[in-house]
Amino acid sequence: MAETIAADVLVLGAGPGGYAAAFRAADLGMQVVMVDRAPRPGGICLHHGCIPSKALLHAGDMIRRAREAEHYGLRFGEPQIDTEKLDGWKQQVIDELAAGIDALAEQRDVRIVHGRAHFAGPDRIEVLGEHAVMITFKHCIIATGSRSVQVRDWRLPSGRVVDSYDALNIHPLPENLLVIGGGYIGLELGQVYSALGTRVQVVEVTEGVLPGVDRDLARPLQQRIDEMFVGVHLDTRVTGLKDVEGGVKASFSGEVTEPDTVFDKVLVAVGRRPNSDGIGLENTEVSVDDQGFIINDAQHRTTQANIYAIGDVAGQPMLAHKASYEGKVAAEVLTGAASADDRRAVPAVVFTDPEVAWCGVTETQAQQEGFEVAVARFPWKRSGRAQTLGSTEGMTKVIVDPATNRIIGVGIVGRGADNMISEGVFACEMGASVEDLARSIHPHPTLSETLSGAAEVFLGSATDVLARKRPQRTGGKQETEPDASDSEDENDGKDEAEHANEDSAASDGPNEPNDDQG
Ligand code: FAD
Repeated sequence: MAETIAADVLVLGAGPGGYAAAFRAADLGMQVVMVDRAPRPGGICLHHGCIPSKALLHAGDMIRRAREAEHYGLRFGEPQIDTEKLDGWKQQVIDELAAGIDALAEQRDVRIVHGRAHFAGPDRIEVLGEHAVMITFKHCIIATGSRSVQVRDWRLPSGRVVDSYDALNIHPLPENLLVIGGGYIGLELGQVYSALGTRVQVVEVTEGVLPGVDRDLARPLQQRIDEMFVGVHLDTRVTGLKDVEGGVKASFSGEVTEPDTVFDKVLVAVGRRPNSDGIGLENTEVSVDDQGFIINDAQHRTTQANIYAIGDVAGQPMLAHKASYEGKVAAEVLTGAASADDRRAVPAVVFTDPEVAWCGVTETQAQQEGFEVAVARFPWKRSGRAQTLGSTEGMTKVIVDPATNRIIGVGIVGRGADNMISEGVFACEMGASVEDLARSIHPHPTLSETLSGAAEVFLGSATDVLARKRPQRTGGKQETEPDASDSEDENDGKDEAEHANEDSAASDGPNEPNDDQG
């Protein structure tokens, strides 16, 4: 007979959403049980997502930087790449972090039950595994995450067509790789393989990589992968994959002129879907939307009042920090605290070279939803620190509510964008004005100066970019105006100033198209 456990709070899924929720609920005095089908806690993020991909990206970054150093007089030999050892090191990182979660669960008296679970009724979950367990609950938090979208016809007997889960094991390194999908997962992994020596081609069905991301942020990355990858095929669809001798033959809708159409490995990275099916929701009052996300409110309550949903299974954006944030909110709400999801800015980071990061409102969103924003950009070729790092392709922009001068979004492309975006999140959350950002002294020489620099461009007070303000015709808003007349490097200065001017000008009319938008 199955063991029966009664839990105050049952958390289904031990990913970054689930364990953040479980630990918060335990810290608030609840008796918590967490269930996961995987043998170790941490979810996709720790075992098959954020952490392994960033470990490998770090390795790839080292190789690239060492090669770049040749430009300024440091020559290293060709790297000796031991992919087995690299996979081993990546696994060590994962194991250490998983052990930390296990230890923290123990210290908090959070019991972890391993096995595949489904709702057997509105107040109970059945866990199937080595030892079957029935768990009844007062409150439940569903945090079952997401999985890669699979294309049935592309599952080939050779096993050469993989998703990100398998692609994170790089040994043995393929000679060539086709990446289907120009989103962040495909590009991050494509860059890892490319840095290690694989010939990489990417196919993206839309007209640009990182669909949905502001084009001015995506463009430097697009240029970088044009150099790094053997082929970047936009507006192109993969129409078929089949096993042939020595690899997988791919056929495409557009004209793909690159030499390789037979690949050692194919990575399918065409999106992720929520894990809301197969968990017995039909035995509860919980509903899902037409994309399979569990419907939930600002307190992450589902359509059954004592069941909450958080993380990837609860809606976009599918990001680990969003999952953890929502997990804490749900845990607080179910303990009776006056908590709700009132976030203004969720950061998103693409950990490529160059990195791309944004938070809050984007220009694309403003255009799509039809509201007015003002934008100012700081080009990194004006940053001393970017010059010393050889990262002059970067750009930082602030997106401002023209009615209040408050910062409502930030976008950064370039090295270190992953860390710098946090200042943008803080500014958005605090309702900081563009003056607040401009007048906060940033240390020199750092890339963070580009944030206050962008704010100064907006105000027309920038030192390193020639952009003067003049009174705006309507509403008292200021517009930056180029003036190259006193610039020594006239053309260069004019370019930047005009850029800034275009940006402001683009924001003046409602939804006025901006050349930078794809
Ligand atoms: P998950 O982490 O998916 O955890 C869900 C857990 O539920 C899993 O452990 C699963 O085993 C368990 N589970 C599911 N169904 C059942 C069941 N029936 N019974 C028992 N257990 C079950 N996000 C970032 O923020 N930054 C990044 O850099 C980043 N990089 C990524 C790279 C890759 C290659 C991938 C694939 C994803 C990446 N993500 C990144 C996304 C991130 O991994 C997810 O957003 C995050 O893991 C979601 O957390 P979660 O808690 O909602 O779910």
